[in-house]
Amino acid sequence: MDIYIIGSGTCVPSLRRASPALAIKIDHKTLLFDGGSGTLRQLLRVGIHLQEIDYLLYTHFHPDHTGDLVHFLFASKYAPAYQREKPFFIVAPTGFIEFYERLKGAYREWIVPKEGLMKIIEMDTTRNSAKKFENFAVYTCPIRHTENSIGFRIEAKGRAVVYSGDSDYCDELVRLAKDADVLICESAFPNGMKVNGHMTPSLAGKIGTLARCKKLILTHFYPVCDQHDIYGQCRKEYKGELIIAEDLMKISV
Ligand SMILES: [Zn+2]
Ligand SMILES: [Zn+2]
Repeated sequence: MDIYIIGSGTCVPSLRRASPALAIKIDHKTLLFDGGSGTLRQLLRVGIHLQEIDYLLYTHFHPDHTGDLVHFLFASKYAPAYQREKPFFIVAPTGFIEFYERLKGAYREWIVPKEGLMKIIEMDTTRNSAKKFENFAVYTCPIRHTENSIGFRIEAKGRAVVYSGDSDYCDELVRLAKDADVLICESAFPNGMKVNGHMTPSLAGKIGTLARCKKLILTHFYPVCDQHDIYGQCRKEYKGELIIAEDLMKISV
């Protein structure tokens, strides 16, 4: 599996850190997790064109994580020479279908793909869920952030990669990340500046340690993080391989 950090930032515009998004390539399949404004353009910087995306997976509906969905649907339908023929999946928390219906209230047929192209799968936000796809399996659990937030565990080729999405500290995430090869975990604010619904480097490190993850990648940094020693703060809680995400980073597992 190849993991690409597409955006390591938040809703705050930043020249260093794009909107939250990451991509995983498993053989010939491309999975995009979250995607705020500018994600599709940022994907081109690692050589992924929107036509290549097979799965769009969403952790929750906040605009910094879903902003480019409308762009994806519109470009896939109307852009001459880029009209999409290849089917794609959307894997998202319970409530996605209602969320999409509301978007259609504003954008109408502009964001409705040709019949049979889009398949939506809602994952339960009240308990653990699992779903098998062509060459990987998805496991999700409810996450402490919004009422419709889930974390993802992807298993393929004997490896496990876990992505927290936005999350406060929660035992569900520790269980989801158990013995994972890689945990990509949000760490939105420095220690001492914690905000409800988000974590700090220490809390993310604690989850990595309790779950015995082999590698921990911190991401989703508000700009204030870049004035603090995020690595050092997390290091006190986590002794495994630790990576501070930067945009366009590639990690193979
Ligand atoms: Zn966010
Ligand atoms: Zn959020």
